Amino acid sequence: MGNDDLREIRERVREAEFVLVGLGNEFAYDWSALTEDARYLEIEAEIADAREEYAWIVPFLQKMILCQAREDRWRQAYRNLECVVGDKNYFVISLCTDDYLYTSGLSLERIVTPCGGFRKMQCDRNCSHTLADIPQETYEAVMRYYGKEVELAVLREPVCEKCGAKLRFNQLGVTCYAEEGYLESWSEYTKWLQRTVNRDLCVLELGVGMEYPTVIRFPFEKIVTYNRKAFLYRVHSALWQIGEGIGDRGCPVAEHPISFLERYAAFAEA
Ligand SMILES: [Zn+2]
Repeated sequence: MGNDDLREIRERVREAEFVLVGLGNEFAYDWSALTEDARYLEIEAEIADAREEYAWIVPFLQKMILCQAREDRWRQAYRNLECVVGDKNYFVISLCTDDYLYTSGLSLERIVTPCGGFRKMQCDRNCSHTLADIPQETYEAVMRYYGKEVELAVLREPVCEKCGAKLRFNQLGVTCYAEEGYLESWSEYTKWLQRTVNRDLCVLELGVGMEYPTVIRFPFEKIVTYNRKAFLYRVHSALWQIGEGIGDRGCPVAEHPISFLERYAAFAEA
């Protein structure tokens, strides 16, 4: 893909009244800061011996890594995304659960992450339909274990205050996912979508494959099919194909979304 295409995308974004962005699996963090960390590998081996009993500490270590300010290709990718949407009237929906989106400069009122993340916890059975704050004492105990100040055996898995079930991070994968964690932003998202009906809308789908297709991929296609003033860019390293219903109001970009944004930002700044 040459710069002519980037110029066209930039023009379309500039001219659009609304910009809708969807982020999928190709955007998800690979946890390399953790899996390349010697102490983490040591911990992984130690908890493997304990037969899953301590598997719950892994997301706490993930949370720890996410809390560390770090310069990497994801941080840069979100910065590039900010450069794309600029001061447009935008909304970003993401399937990623790594919370990187929340460390970007994008407006909190303009993002929704329906698969959850690391900001809140919930009862594994979602007994009360409420979210819980991360218990500070558990987090600190895991940090002390990471720092080799205490033994694994002193760690206690946090439990739901009401029913005693496991307390887990509010993200897909728990036994009963508490959708309460994102419904408010989801309602903002649907209100925003209603305002885009029959208006100039540029849709950027970045790295969304076939995981949960009813959340981003299919609805985005539907939006562009019905809104004749909408245009879709589907950026993906393998699943870039666009259905026939969209006609010439869609353009596939066969590229990894992170390198696409890198080129886009470099082009826009030049
Ligand atoms: Zn409970």
